[in-house]
Parts: sequence; C-alpha cells; structure tokens
Amino acid sequence: MRVFLDHVGIAVQDLPQALAFYRDALGLHVEAPEDVASQHVRAHFIPTGNSAVELLEATNPDSPIARFLAKRGPGIHHITLRVDDITAALTELKARNVHLIDDVPRPGAEGALVAFIHPGAAHGVLVELKQPAAKGATLQVKRHAFGDFQLTTLHDGPFKLDGGAMFGVVPKTLWERKVQTDDRNRIQMAMRPLLVEADWGRMIIDCGAGDKMDAKFRDIYALDPEHGLDEALGAAGLSSESIDFALATHLHFDHFGAATVRRNGALVPRFPKARCIIRAAEWEDATHPNERNRASYLQDDFVPLQAAGVVDFFDGDITVKPGVRVERSGGHTPQHQVVYVESGGRTAIFPSDIIPTTAHLQDPWVTGYDLFPLDSLSFKKRLIRNAIDREYLVFFEHDPHVAAGYIRERDGKRWVEPVL
Ligand SMILES: [Zn+2]
Ligand SMILES: [Zn+2]
Repeated sequence: MRVFLDHVGIAVQDLPQALAFYRDALGLHVEAPEDVASQHVRAHFIPTGNSAVELLEATNPDSPIARFLAKRGPGIHHITLRVDDITAALTELKARNVHLIDDVPRPGAEGALVAFIHPGAAHGVLVELKQPAAKGATLQVKRHAFGDFQLTTLHDGPFKLDGGAMFGVVPKTLWERKVQTDDRNRIQMAMRPLLVEADWGRMIIDCGAGDKMDAKFRDIYALDPEHGLDEALGAAGLSSESIDFALATHLHFDHFGAATVRRNGALVPRFPKARCIIRAAEWEDATHPNERNRASYLQDDFVPLQAAGVVDFFDGDITVKPGVRVERSGGHTPQHQVVYVESGGRTAIFPSDIIPTTAHLQDPWVTGYDLFPLDSLSFKKRLIRNAIDREYLVFFEHDPHVAAGYIRERDGKRWVEPVL
C-alpha cells in the first residue's frame, strides 16, 4: 500500500497561544475553522506543503479532545495517513493482526473515508487512515429493499453548476468549507433519478438532463451524456422500455430533460411505454417562461410529450400510485413538489431542489435559483425537522457522492449518515 503523511493533529488547550506560535511566530496560514459536530471538535487547518498541521479545540466537555487534554495535556493527538484504497488497507492490516478501532471506514470531512488504528498498534500514537473523496462524481447504481418496494438510485451522469448560484446568499467563505470549486467557480454535482419498483409497475422520479444538448451547453454544465441514464438503466438490468411511469418534481432541464430524445430528426418520448405524470400548474409555468426562468425551462424537453399524448396532468397534492405521493413545496419554482415513498411503515423522501445535496442541510442554505426563497425556507425547515425526527431515508438528487442517507442532528449540527 502507498501511504503519505496527510497531517498531524495537535490538541490545544489555549487556542490564542497556539496561534501566536503557529500563525504569528512561524508565519503559517491558518484556514477558517471547521466544526466536526459529531466529535465536538473545532479544527484549524494549517497547510504546510504536501501535508498539514491541524489544531484541535474541544467544543464540549464530552469531546475526545477534552478527555485527551484532561489526561495528557496539550500535544500530538493523532497523525493522519493518506491511502488510495482504505478498504484494501484495512483488509491488509487485519490480516497482519493490527489492532484497529474501526473495522470498516466511516465518513469524514469533505467526503473522505476515515478509519482509526489503535494507539497500541502504532507505538503510542493514534493513527487515522484517510481516503480522500474521489474527484468528480461517484455514480453508482444501487438497489435498496424498502417495504414492498425496490428503490434503485440511478444517474444521468455528472454535471456542474456555479457554486454561488447553488448556495444563494450564503457567502463562499462558509460553503467552500464543504465543497470545492473548479477554476470556473463551478461545483461538482450529479443527477440522480430514483426508480421505484412496485407491484403496480416501475416509476422513475425525475430523469436527468438527457442528451439533446449542443457542445456549448455541455461545456457550460460539464455534462457527460455518454455516461448517462442508459448506462445506469443497463447496470440495473433495465432499459428505457422498462419504465411504466415518469414523475416530474418540476420541469427544469436537469430534472426532466431526458424525458425526450431526438430520433431521426424528431423529438420523441424517451420512455416509449411510460405515462409522464406532471403537475398541471408546473406545466403552465414551464410553457410560459419569463426572463428569469427561461434558461431552465427548455421547451424541447416537454412540449413533444404532450404532442405524443403521453402526459397525465394532475392538480394538488395527490397519491400518484399506492405508496407514492407528492406535496407541493413551492419556493424553487412555485409548483416544485417533493415526493414521499411510503411502505412497510417507512418513509423515503425525494426532496429534489429543496435539499439538492448533503451540503444543503442548514435551513437557510437555499439555492440562488429559487424564485421564492422564503417559501423554500419554510417548507424545508418543516421537511428536515420531520426527516430527522421520523428517520426518513432522504435522497439527494444532486449530491456528487451520496445518493441517500439519514439526516442526523446533535447540538444544532447536522450531518448525513450515508446509506446509498
Ligand atoms: Zn430546479
Ligand atoms: Zn436541479
């Protein structure tokens, strides 16, 4: 295995004094602090070339850092070693009878996977292994049994949007601790439709952007239609013909663009056997765009569906099929809706652009695309509260790495326990 020193973690009792040395006397740059809620720790990262020093403050007497300080005083708390494949590394260490704290990796900061090795095995030093988040998006097709249903997370490839637009009025100094930008200030995202398989048929919820766009459009949004929905359906042993129902959360191009394809110069439905289930008022807005939403509502994505006679319109919050119901959220678009999938006493939600990624867990972190952000905020507040208290399985349609998970909360801090 290839191992690199990532950083040295130092427990500090008195942060101003520590900064007086590391920042002022050594002249090092200290990054904005990051709170690791689950550990009651505030980390101050200090890059030093290929590795770094990390100053760790306890934010609560329960913190492992507080216990370390009480027992041993300030000093080196752990070292972190970077590996390419943490699962392979743990398997190798286990085979050599190395005493591990974590047998399986768990999620760390910035999408990394981490695992701890017992200090007894490392001659008195706590060692953390870290596999950094993959560059680009992690696009996997995974099935999940859910009551009487099979839920499958599909994808229509990766894409990128402007980071500022995705976080609205939240300053970049805050959101850039969670997500990285490219040289054009775009952040990595993905499009992840959800497939529900039930005794009444197969329903796809949203379907991604599709492949009708020209080269310029692909470049702006960093789309990769060659690795899109067909590939994902194929990986699930399915094809476009397998879909019986296509439900739209709203008609933005990154959500329902793939509902039409160009065949022999004509635009036709992508899913030849499917009924497309669309909220009538959303259709009305999408087919009458204004200067503000014109770039998101592309008429070629949905107008041909009506011409082909495959659209079933509905009004209000309805049960679309047994166990699948919609609720209008408004906010992002006035008629934007979230989807509830309920079976066997469990609830999964598909909140679409109301909680697009795992970096959008704080109530006011609402996208700049939202037409009525205060409506988004009030709906989202209630939805996330319920998701935490009632343990909803939450699908993150645009997250680059995590398709679904449970939102956890402690001391006002929120994080996601990934499931898919
Ligand atoms: Zn949208
Ligand atoms: Zn979107």
